[in-house]
Amino acid sequence: MAIQATSVQDMYNKMREKLADVVPDVELQIKAEIAYEINRLKVEKNAIILGHNYMEPALFATIPDYVGDSLMLSRKAAQTDKDIIVFCGVEFMAETAKILNPNKTVLLPASHAGCSLAESISAEDVRWLRSQYPGVPVVTYINTYADVKAESDICVTSGNAVAVVNSLQSDTVIFLPDEYLAKNVARETGKQIILPTRAGNALEKMHAGVDNGMKANIELTSPADFQMVGWHGRCEVHDKFTVSDIQAVRAQFPDVVIVSHPECSPEVVEASDFSGSTQAMINFVERTEAPRYLVLTECSMGDNIAAANPHKEMLRLCSVRCPHMNQITMEDTLDSLRYNQYEINVPEEIRVRAVRAVERMIAFG
Ligand code: SF4
Repeated sequence: MAIQATSVQDMYNKMREKLADVVPDVELQIKAEIAYEINRLKVEKNAIILGHNYMEPALFATIPDYVGDSLMLSRKAAQTDKDIIVFCGVEFMAETAKILNPNKTVLLPASHAGCSLAESISAEDVRWLRSQYPGVPVVTYINTYADVKAESDICVTSGNAVAVVNSLQSDTVIFLPDEYLAKNVARETGKQIILPTRAGNALEKMHAGVDNGMKANIELTSPADFQMVGWHGRCEVHDKFTVSDIQAVRAQFPDVVIVSHPECSPEVVEASDFSGSTQAMINFVERTEAPRYLVLTECSMGDNIAAANPHKEMLRLCSVRCPHMNQITMEDTLDSLRYNQYEINVPEEIRVRAVRAVERMIAFG
């Protein structure tokens, strides 16, 4: 996937072929030099670069050996025989690579690239939920830190969450921490969901989330009434997209096809034409022919789809950006390789418990 170039000029020429429609030439000239040096150092240090679909186009198209969503990149991290893994994504992704590769050096190009979902829940919260719902399996979104994964039975991504929940031999599941993803999965799996509130160690009045993911404010307090227990985490990016945005875009472009990520609210997902993981969204645009698309997710992904599909018109709502993904730059990736920074470590007692949940997710297929 990374561009193989014999010189900076060759790198620039190849970048122009791929990116001329989405990256100005003056930027290509600067980035070509950095990309060439990164790829040279990568070979010298026996490193692999994994790039999430949200990386900016010049980085995305030139230096990662593999690009994809969290699930695909976890699989690549599990398979690599390189000494160093540089993760162009956010911290929980690099942590997942370290969980799978305790003897390799895993580097994140920024000193901190967080995630509002990962920060919405602690290991103590998961232990508390287990105490409230004994025996109920804990399904955890990959957008969590290692100590939360260590308390979980299986991890999921947005690409396999429905299939994993359907596969569990359990009437009820705890699904953490994304409220919207849980509601969207609940609707697809025909489950009623509740969102318990924790005050100290007491189970406060349960605020019923939804009726099959759509109707709010129904109180469900008997275990017989619900089959999914969610949490209150939200992605600060996807939370900002609204049904009004969709209506406004459809009014201006009646032939637009709208594609949304399941971290968006159930109402936004319902108002869209297709919803899926970042990789599923990319695949959908590639295999369909519409006059234009609106992709409701991090804006850089729209640029990357546009670069790969120059004949397709992409609309983006780029006032909504992920401040964490945008921490990762080509300049910092070069420094990461030069100075071995910033190394990700996971305490071994946490890693050995977290790896079970991550490996179950990868084995699920
Ligand atoms: S886009 Fe949302 S889920 Fe993804 S890293 Fe940013 S805050 Fe987290």
